[in-house]
Amino acid sequence: MTLVVQKYGGTSVADLDRIRNVAARIKRHVTAGEKVAVVVSAMAGTTNQLVGWVHGLDAAGYDTAEYDQVVASGEQVTIGLLAIALQTIGVPARSFLGWQAGIRTDAAYSKARIVEIDPRPVLECLDSGKVAVVAGFQGIGPEGRVTTLGRGGSDTSAVALAAAIKAERCDIFTDVDGVYTTDPRIVARARKLERITYEEMLEMASVGAKVLETRSVALAMRHHVRVQVLSSFEDKPGTLVVDEDEVVESQIVSGIAYSRNEARITVLRVKDRPGVAAAIFGPLAEANINVDMIVQSVSRDGVYANQTFTVSKADLPRALAVLEKAKDEIGYESILADSDVVKISVIGVGMRSHAGIAHKMFATLAAKGINIQAISTSEIKVSVLIAEEYTELALRALHTAYGLDKD
Ligand code: ADP
Ligand code: ASP
Ligand code: MG
Repeated sequence: MTLVVQKYGGTSVADLDRIRNVAARIKRHVTAGEKVAVVVSAMAGTTNQLVGWVHGLDAAGYDTAEYDQVVASGEQVTIGLLAIALQTIGVPARSFLGWQAGIRTDAAYSKARIVEIDPRPVLECLDSGKVAVVAGFQGIGPEGRVTTLGRGGSDTSAVALAAAIKAERCDIFTDVDGVYTTDPRIVARARKLERITYEEMLEMASVGAKVLETRSVALAMRHHVRVQVLSSFEDKPGTLVVDEDEVVESQIVSGIAYSRNEARITVLRVKDRPGVAAAIFGPLAEANINVDMIVQSVSRDGVYANQTFTVSKADLPRALAVLEKAKDEIGYESILADSDVVKISVIGVGMRSHAGIAHKMFATLAAKGINIQAISTSEIKVSVLIAEEYTELALRALHTAYGLDKD
């Protein structure tokens, strides 16, 4: 019998009708002879509400273990409801919280990593002829407390479970029918990809394409899990995430992503001396703040420099506090911060062998009068930071410029 994992995201289980729709879909697979383990998210909007409640009591210093206790509760509701919906249409099913499904994580509350999954509880359930409905996004830490994996983490739960029970496929059902060249909700001419390589998907996800969570792609790549992204509302093939040798003809640029999650900080007039970058980024690293793009510009006299870099929006207040505290050691004049920025990235494995990709990006933005505030590159990606108000304009112009528009 074929063993499959199916994951349904928040919009796919947003109300009772949609939960019934998901149950009916699962039934078709069971009837066709598949053993199905299901991973579900909380109903759309629920996790945001739960996070909002925690922030409402304490915006900065809250106990992350208790945060996890609160935000993990959304998934408890949907697993129970889906199990009941399955039972009402004659499909035996039982639900599992993360700990009941053997999902063990580290103790990094609110951003825990899965350490190990004991496949036995879910396999025993499937062997007894029932559908196993598992709560995504959560597990149990070494101290015996509930942990969550970070926003969007149900994708990771699903891929990890698929690897643990050696499922043939991991189907990620969502509110779009596949992975597109860019977010189809912003660029109407975005094209659906039949296949995308793990590497490109990983890069797309890590720079903001939230259709799959980054860690889920990394896990799938490592454990060779066959992932498909497809719609829970329509019956049609989605996008397969595959190894590079399975893609017949690769585009030079396969996708464009954006992230509104960045904030820009500029440290003005620091002495241009050896050790100054270390003086700025050392305290930030100690405070566990990740820095993404970095630009240093030197003044004409060569004595002073400005350091511009980005941190995540959530880390901005803490980053500013850390820099303020280290002002004497760093020795700067002032600091500017701007959170109305967006990072736009173009991605493609073809970049390894083709020149001119970055130039085309800069020229396209220039033609639209969009100023670039910072740049970063990797082997298969070029990212720029621009003002947030130009997000749509930039995405559409770049999509056309790289020949990605659908006919
Ligand atoms: P779920 O709740 O099912 O996990 P998400 O909201 O996390 O769904 O992810 C699906 C969303 O990802 C889509 O609605 C779409 O707006 C967005 N998205 C961003 N980039 C892309 C892309 N390149 N292809 C498809 N969807 C994308
Ligand atoms: N419910 C969680 C979230 O909204 C996890 C997920 O949906 O993947 O982030
Ligand atoms: Mg998601």
